[in-house]
Amino acid sequence: MDYVLTSDRLCKNYRSFKALDNFSVHIPKGSIYGLVGRNGAGKTTFIRLICGLQRPSSGNYSLYGVNSNSSKIEKQRSRMGAVVETPSLFLDMTAKDNLIHQYKLLGKPDNDGIDELLKLVGLENTGKKKAKNFSLGMKQRLGIAVALAGNPDFIVLDEPINGLDPQGIVEVRELLLKLNQEMGITILISSHILDELSRLATNYGFVDRGHIVKEISAEELENACKKYISVKAENLNALLRYLDNNNLPYTVISDEEAQIYGKLDINDCVISLHNQGFKFLSISEHEESLESYFINLVGGKYDD
Ligand code: ATP
Repeated sequence: MDYVLTSDRLCKNYRSFKALDNFSVHIPKGSIYGLVGRNGAGKTTFIRLICGLQRPSSGNYSLYGVNSNSSKIEKQRSRMGAVVETPSLFLDMTAKDNLIHQYKLLGKPDNDGIDELLKLVGLENTGKKKAKNFSLGMKQRLGIAVALAGNPDFIVLDEPINGLDPQGIVEVRELLLKLNQEMGITILISSHILDELSRLATNYGFVDRGHIVKEISAEELENACKKYISVKAENLNALLRYLDNNNLPYTVISDEEAQIYGKLDINDCVISLHNQGFKFLSISEHEESLESYFINLVGGKYDD
């Protein structure tokens, strides 16, 4: 697998407090990688380190295969765009002027591409309106446009949907999907809003107390949270024959319980097996939510 960013036992201490404690992450090229964790778990600290805003206490990370201790790391960082905490905008400037300013900072010779960038983030009609009069969602999208000004192939967004109204969330989500799917940009996005991330992320890293507790692909997570029907009976043989004949996947949990995945026609199953004298003890439907999966991983209550 090709990784844009990996970290190896990255640590960041604030005096004796370990904000990051052996933080090891693997961000595949082309992914939307959701960094999920409670407030204070260490997400922003990690992002600040990889953006070069702070130095690790120990451990290292690798950007496009270049180690963070190498003198070449800054060159690799120029392939990356980021919005850390709040977007750094000039609030007395228009959207376009913010981008012109960013182009100057990047040393670009002209303003080619700015109109396209404004269109991409849906701010092409904001004219003379100053950024201070933008909605939070518009500010966030302008922040993303600023991060895109250097044509990065990897962008890092710290809680980009925090505080947005439902419309703003949809707009940011659609923009990120477009950047990823149409432009091939790899995205690292941190959030404590699990449900929202699940509509975007192709990969997850679950963070707790400065540590990645699990990395998992969206497909693996979906399977882990998959719906199943639990059937309990005194003897499962007839049930298992029925499931095999109907090509339904299942797992035998014990002599008395099977978990069935896929679309079980409960009426048909009950009638067929009843005719064979099969006695059900119970039938129940189960589904693990993303949130309960996370709580099971890290233990304790999840604070939204
Ligand atoms: P949030 O979404 O609340 O920002 P987070 O997962 O991004 O959460 P961090 O901001 O990375 O969390 O903070 C991780 C821990 O490190 C927190 O307990 C925080 O109080 C602590 N911390 C962060 N910066 C500093 C600092 N400069 N000095 C001391 N402690 C800090």
